[in-house]
Amino acid sequence: MNPFYKDYSEYIAEIFPDFKVQKLSVNTSRSCPNRDGTLSTGGCIYCNNRSFTPGYCFSGGSVAEQLRDGKRFFARKYPEMRYIAYFQSFSSTYGEGLKQDLADAVSVDGICGIVVGARPDCLGPEVIEILKEYGRSLPVFVEIGVESLHDNILRLINRGHDAATAIRAIRNCADAGLHVGVHLIAGLPGETDEMILDTVRRTCDLPIGSLKMHQLQVLKDTPLAAMTESGEVAVTGYSLEDYLTLCVRIVEAVPRHICIERFLAQAPPAMVISPKWGIKNYEFTNLLLNRLSKS
Ligand code: SF4
Repeated sequence: MNPFYKDYSEYIAEIFPDFKVQKLSVNTSRSCPNRDGTLSTGGCIYCNNRSFTPGYCFSGGSVAEQLRDGKRFFARKYPEMRYIAYFQSFSSTYGEGLKQDLADAVSVDGICGIVVGARPDCLGPEVIEILKEYGRSLPVFVEIGVESLHDNILRLINRGHDAATAIRAIRNCADAGLHVGVHLIAGLPGETDEMILDTVRRTCDLPIGSLKMHQLQVLKDTPLAAMTESGEVAVTGYSLEDYLTLCVRIVEAVPRHICIERFLAQAPPAMVISPKWGIKNYEFTNLLLNRLSKS
């Protein structure tokens, strides 16, 4: 067991104590209200969606086909493994088809849970009711993209929702019995370490089960890349050492009952402008554990 914070393996073993599980990402080719013109067409200034969708999701297959492909990938090595369908790309609760997607996912043998990634403003009563219904037969996790609880930062990154909307979505999902995870970004333009820690603390006062952090990455072909290039905004630009220091403070701020799922984003290196740390998630975790053991 990780002595410093509840990590993802501990969290998931509490929920699935009898078998090992693996997340399988699914692409439903949904859009996002911050890209399709409903809120804006540019999206969040850092967003380049291809950076976080695994290659096997571009097959264009149905939800069930993608999950079976993913299962084949892992089942050779781990035949007893069960799987969590992870609806990650864009906002998986946006638009029509959520009910069908979930029905397709649970029709696949070995699916024991569902994760949906969603913007806070894509978690209205109807969506929550659908998720709640599935939550009666298997664990349903909602991963809410909160990013920051500071409205001035949310405006600057063109997020298209405010902090109050995020807080309301967290509470509504928790009230529906869903496992709530929150996604935050460290190093957004204009956000100091103290503001990040304030967001972390206020988020941890809400009914959440897990937290997923990552460093801001400036990716090619994003508005952020153009804005930093022109000098319109400046990003914090952490060194690896500075980010480790911040993560130590984040661990200290997060109560032991809340899982910290990860600290690092890993877009394909060819897409990354900065930071170029060249480090994998497990390597970062090892460095952090080392730092924590000395603090
Ligand atoms: S909500 Fe997600 S998918 Fe939509 S623009 Fe922002 S980061 Fe991209």
